[in-house]
Amino acid sequence: MTVRPANVAPSCAPPRIHYVCSKVGSGLIVGIAMDSKQYPVTHTEAEWRQLLSPEQFRIMRAHGTEPPGSCALNHEKRAGAFFCAGCGQKLFASAHKFDSGTGWPSFNDPVPGAVETATDRSLGMVRTEVHCSRCGSHLGHVFDDGPPPTHRRYCINGVAMNFQPE
Ligand SMILES: [Zn+2]
Repeated sequence: MTVRPANVAPSCAPPRIHYVCSKVGSGLIVGIAMDSKQYPVTHTEAEWRQLLSPEQFRIMRAHGTEPPGSCALNHEKRAGAFFCAGCGQKLFASAHKFDSGTGWPSFNDPVPGAVETATDRSLGMVRTEVHCSRCGSHLGHVFDDGPPPTHRRYCINGVAMNFQPE
């Protein structure tokens, strides 16, 4: 597994406060093995490469991270919902989105049952990885420094989702 340094400068302002998705920034291939759990939606690697863009595949199937500020969904403020780009499952409602200043779409809370978590010990850190409960695609990470009431901050790669306005 090769580690490729980020070569895309963030197009958004740097984080205002301590919200950071990853100390090493983005554009890295993290290289965590996907677990062997059977999900309701499964595809071979070749099928995933057909279904997803190269960037989506790198993030969703190889635990990559998009450059902060790179996805237009970061600025999506309309009422609606965010769906998994891998299987179409509804993941987050716009009512739970907030501006974290990180450059990644951030949410208080997922749709109940839509995401699962795993411990991510890559890069010398212990983080809580978030993936789709239906297809197992990597979405991002969750931190406990979010705003009330849940104090959770789901830091999600925008390219892993599709937005549908109400
Ligand atoms: Zn999915």
